[in-house]
Parts: sequence; structure tokens; C-alpha cells
Amino acid sequence: MQWKCAICGQTKAVTIQRWRCDCGGVLECDFTPQVQLDAWARREPGMWRYAEALPLYGATPVSLGEPATPLVPLELEGGKVLVKQEQLFSTGSYKDRGAALLLTMARHLGVGSVVEDSSGNAGCAVSAYAARAGIRCEVFVPESTSSAKLAQMEAYGATVTKVPGSREMTACAVLEAAKTRFYASHTYNPWFIEGVKTFGYELADQLGYKAPDWVVLPAGNGTLLLGCFRAFSELVAAGVWEKMPRLAGVQSTACSPLVQAFRAGLAAPCEVQPAPTVAEGIAIAEPQRGWQMLQAVALCGGLFQAIDDEETMAARRWAALRGFFVEPTAAIALAATSRLLREGRITGTVVTVFTGHGLKHAH
Ligand SMILES: *Cc1c(COP(=O)(O)O)cnc(C)c1O
Ligand SMILES: [Zn+2]
Repeated sequence: MQWKCAICGQTKAVTIQRWRCDCGGVLECDFTPQVQLDAWARREPGMWRYAEALPLYGATPVSLGEPATPLVPLELEGGKVLVKQEQLFSTGSYKDRGAALLLTMARHLGVGSVVEDSSGNAGCAVSAYAARAGIRCEVFVPESTSSAKLAQMEAYGATVTKVPGSREMTACAVLEAAKTRFYASHTYNPWFIEGVKTFGYELADQLGYKAPDWVVLPAGNGTLLLGCFRAFSELVAAGVWEKMPRLAGVQSTACSPLVQAFRAGLAAPCEVQPAPTVAEGIAIAEPQRGWQMLQAVALCGGLFQAIDDEETMAARRWAALRGFFVEPTAAIALAATSRLLREGRITGTVVTVFTGHGLKHAH
């Protein structure tokens, strides 16, 4: 089992201690995914249907019964948009896809204890799947964090450790802990993105392997955007699709390092001073995989769009009045889809996603 650096290309043996390359680069899984539509069609729906595309090495999945999330048509701006219901996972967000594979591989490696830093849905998903795997879990969060999500992590038996000071202090604390325990990071650990990749395969499967024109996704650290991009790239490489669907990455105007970089034609995220936003799940000022997201969106001819809190909350109400209760970070993609349709910047078969459940943020 090997990892490969996304920057320098060096390969490294997978070990409990290693979470990035010696050069500082993020790691990827060094394996060859197999696209096997015929075998997949004979299996139960859900993320494990696509096993040959995952770096499983014969590991037995740690599972909470991951559903194939429904793709529901909604009338929007006089047209039809397909919305993938990723809020229906066990912990209430699509992060279960990443955590399921990550904790599967952690258990396969014989890991007894993991650490993570997330005040949001990644922390909930890692806590739940660690509980399912019988692995101890500690989640580091900034002291200022107060959210229903912390209570959810504690309910799964995770230790939630509040770190005084800035977000950087939390990062320091988790890295200190990661010297002796496995760092189950949703940003650095490549298994997380590989698990989220099943979002893209499942979407393609539900469309009868007919490529959509546009997929509109919230983008913070990029697990969803990069996971989706990877699945689509693998379908193109396998000859299933002739061309890539276009991806639209959505950020909050309060924290939009990728939107700004995209507009300026830069290869790396811009430096930003983040302001508070209701779209807390994607308020990432310094995304470690930002350059990969910019590259992916450029390659598929996509775009990045910023949306403010007012438009986000209007979309959240709009969805709830039609029976879909989602958290603001999920509604931001719907807000962007409306706007991009209205402005004629996306056309054809358009897909978007509800990433997180409304009960996470019920006020
Ligand atoms: C994590 C998350 C996102 C975006 O994910 P990134 O991997 O940070 O780009 C979107 N919506 C919700 C609800 C999330 O929890
Ligand atoms: Zn490297």
C-alpha cells in the first residue's frame, strides 16, 4: 500500500504516522482504479457497489448502511434541476462517504486511536465511523466553536478537545497529537477523497451513465469537488464518457479564496480575511488542496461563484417550503444554481446537491 505525493511525485509506504509528504505536499493513493459497470450493475446500490474503483486492498467495509442517495428533480428558474440528497446519510452529510473509507482503512491497518480537527460535519462523520469501527476518536476544535455538531460528536463517544486561541492553535494541537495517533484528516488523508469519489460514480450510475452538462457543488476544502472530479475523470479515462461534465464550485462571499483566484487566473488560492458566514461548512480561508480545485475546474471548463448570506438563506427557505430541510452550507449550492441559470451561465442537464441536513443548524 503506497501513497504518492501530489507535488513531487515521490511514493511513500502507508504508515500510521505519515499524513503528508516530506516536501509538504498532499498525498494521493497510488493505485489503479477499475471501472466495471457490468459487475457494479449486479450489486446492491450504495457506495460499496463501486469497490473496484476504491483503494480497498481487500479490507472489509466499516459500514452504517450507506444509502444510494436519491436524485430528485426540482423546478428552478423555469427549468428542471436534479438535486442529490446527500443530507440523508447516517450522520446527516455526505462526509460519511469519506469517513466510511477512511475508517475502513484505519481498521485494516490496525489503528486503535484517531485524531481529527473539524468543528463540523467531518468531525461528526469521523466520530461515528470510529465508533462503528471500535476505534477511539479525539476531535480538536477551536475554543470559540459552539454548535450542535459538537454535541453530535460527543454522542458518538468522541473526545472533543477545545483549543484556546486561533484556528492555527487547533492545527498545532492536532499535529502534536498526530505524532502518536493516526491523523484521520478529511483534508490531508487521500482515502477520504477516494470515499467521496463514490458521489460521482453514483450520480453517473443514476443518470444511466449519460454525462450531465453541469454539476454545481459547494467548495471549501474540496473533498466533494475533487472527489466528484476524480470519479468523472476515471469515467472518461475508461471510455465511458467522451468528455468531462463541467463543475461549478460555490463559495461564500465572506470567504472566497478560490473565487478570487479563479477570477484573477491564479493557480493557487488568494489570501483572504474571512468574515463570519452562515455557510460555516465551507468557510475555509487556506484550503490545502486549493490548487487542485483550481486545476480541476479549469480542466473541465467550469467556474467558481460566490454567494452571500442573504441569497443563501433565501434558498434555504425556498427549499424548506418545498419540503427539503437543509443546513445553510447546503443551500448555498442551490442559491448558486438559481443565479447561474438566471444569468444563462449554466445550461443543459444541471445537477446540484444538498450536502447537509437542516437539523444540524435548526435555528
Ligand atoms: C464539508 C461540507 C461541504 C464542502 O466540503 P469541502 O470538502 O470542504 O469542500 C459542503 N457542505 C457541507 C454541509 C459540508 O459539511
Ligand atoms: Zn512531495
